[in-house]
Order: sequence, then structure tokens, then C-alpha cells
Amino acid sequence: MLLDVRDLRVEFRTRDGVVGAVNGVSYAVDAGETLAVLGESGSGKSVTAQAVMGILDSPPGRVTGGEIRFKDRDLLTLDREERRRIRGEKMAMIFQDALSALNPVLSVGYQLGEMFRVHRGMSRKDARAKAIELMERVRIPAARERVDDFPHQFSGGMRQRIMIAMALALEPELIIADEPTTALDVTVQAQVMDLLAELQREYRMGLILITHDLGVVADVADRIAVMYAGRIVEHAPVRGLYARPAHPYTRGLLDSIPRLDQKGKELLAIKGMPPNLLHVPAGCPFHPRCPRARDVCRHDPPPPLYEEVGPGRSSACHFWKETIGE
Ligand code: ADP
Ligand code: MG
Repeated sequence: MLLDVRDLRVEFRTRDGVVGAVNGVSYAVDAGETLAVLGESGSGKSVTAQAVMGILDSPPGRVTGGEIRFKDRDLLTLDREERRRIRGEKMAMIFQDALSALNPVLSVGYQLGEMFRVHRGMSRKDARAKAIELMERVRIPAARERVDDFPHQFSGGMRQRIMIAMALALEPELIIADEPTTALDVTVQAQVMDLLAELQREYRMGLILITHDLGVVADVADRIAVMYAGRIVEHAPVRGLYARPAHPYTRGLLDSIPRLDQKGKELLAIKGMPPNLLHVPAGCPFHPRCPRARDVCRHDPPPPLYEEVGPGRSSACHFWKETIGE
């Protein structure tokens, strides 16, 4: 396994108390595979990714438990220097907002070239040629003419391509893309997502694709991990999850995707709000919003996720059988 995260826990110490942002998350992704991590805002998707990358905002954040195994080494046991090297060479991250991820006062060619100058010791001239090659690779029109342009001179979609190019530069084994298309128009979203999926296949990278939008990942992900209140509540191959979700929360997310064939119909969004992580409800954290909730859900913690509900599938719901059979 390329990346194997086991029972990861992350806390933030705040003035109001300790926030359990990640409460025992386990997920894995292999070379050539795409894992989508799905969930509403605040469910711990980004914090999990930041812990994996070693870029957690710390303090106040702190990993308090678990393992992050990358090619069989637990990254949490490595020293700063080793960690930095792996992050630079073997892993890369793509963020939602390219404008703040890229340096506004340096040309994109310079920033792309810097990867090759710093990490590969290339000359300026060679690095520039590599930068153009990368820009062509992510299909930026007229790359040769635009290599000296600044980030703000590109459209949102083109900037996102540049960030993908930056991430690919050193041919990492793992890419984490955190809401990479959320800020884009729907048509541009699809193009950028297709490009990312194509490059992932070609380079045989492991890809973790974080999103709050189930519609975005259907065509590109192999498996989906659904997160709620810092936990994974369902984990399944894409097709199975779409056809028959085994957790009421997943069901709710699916029902809130706008469908072209049901134009005008009211969206069945999930009622209520995700919990404040300072005061997570007892029992199953989803119970106050769950249409299936019964007494047991209000008092007993949900069954552990390792309970198998099908091949490669698990659900943290007492009533997964009823949910899946719906
Ligand atoms: P998302 O699923 O939207 O990516 P995050 O992983 O960013 O959610 O955040 C999960 C939770 O962690 C947030 O709801 C918040 O309570 C907490 N959190 C994240 N960053 C910080 C921080 N810098 N300080 C305090 N709490 C934080
Ligand atoms: Mg996030």
C-alpha cells in the first residue's frame, strides 16, 4: 500500500476547549488508485490531509494518535528533515485557491522552473524549458508565449492547471487534491477534473481527492470514504456506494445532488447542521439529523467501521441493512 492511514487523531487546543477534528480515521490509497474523501464542510477532510502532508497548523493542531504509513514507514516517527524531503519529492498537494497558493509577484514559468532548479539542480535555461513542457502537459494554450505571465493573468481554470503542473513537476507518488475544482464554473470543473484523472492514470500516482460534492467524483474515483464529524462513516467502491448507500448520511448526500432529469424538483438536502466539534452529540454523531435515528443511536456509539457490509464496504450505522436495502 502506498499510503495507509490508521486510526489517526488530531486535536486543536482552542480557548473554548479541545476540538477533536479527526477522531480515528483510517484510509488507504495505492499507486494508480483514486480515493475520494467526501463530506460537508468542517468534517475533518482537510485536517486529515494536512496531517498526512505534515503541514498541520501546529500549534494549535496536534496529532494525538494513529499512524501515517507511507511505503511502510510511519511518517509520524520521522524527523523534520526526512519528513520535509518526502513531502517535497514524493507527495504533492493541490489546493482550492490557486491564487493564494501561487506567488503573485513571480511569473508562473519562474515558479514552475524553481522546482527543477531547486530540486534537480537544473540550469535556468533547462528549467524554463521544463516549465513550458509542463504547461503544455496540462494543456495551457500558447504555453511558450505565456510562460512569463503572472498568476493573475490566467483564468481560474488555467491557474488550477498551473497548480496541477506544479504538483506533477517532481513526479510524486501521491497527490492530495483538496477541493481542486470547487472555485470553478461547472464546465471548467469537469475539464480540470478530467485532466487530473488522466494525469493520475498516466503517472500511476495515488490520488486522494477531497470534495464536498458527490457529483464531482463519480467518474474519477475508485473508492469513496464519507466523513462526518471527524470520522469515516462509510467506505465503499464508487459504484456500490452510488447504487446502494449503507449510511443514512451518504443517502442524504446522494439525494442532495441536483439531477438534470429531475429539474424543478425540490432538493432533499440533509436537515440541520453538522455538529460543533466542541460538543459532539452522544451516541452516533449524526443522530440529530438522521431520519432513521432510534434510541440506540442516541445512546450507543455507532458500530466500528471495520464491520463489513459487503466486499470492500463498511458502514458505521446500526441500521445499515435497512439503509442499503431501501
Ligand atoms: P473540512 O472537512 O471542511 O476540510 P477541516 O478539516 O478543515 O474541515 O476542519 C475540521 C474541523 O477542525 C473544523 O470544523 C474545526 O473545528 C477544526 N479546525 C480546523 N482548523 C482549525 C484551527 N486552525 N484551529 C482550530 N480548529 C480548527
Ligand atoms: Mg476543507
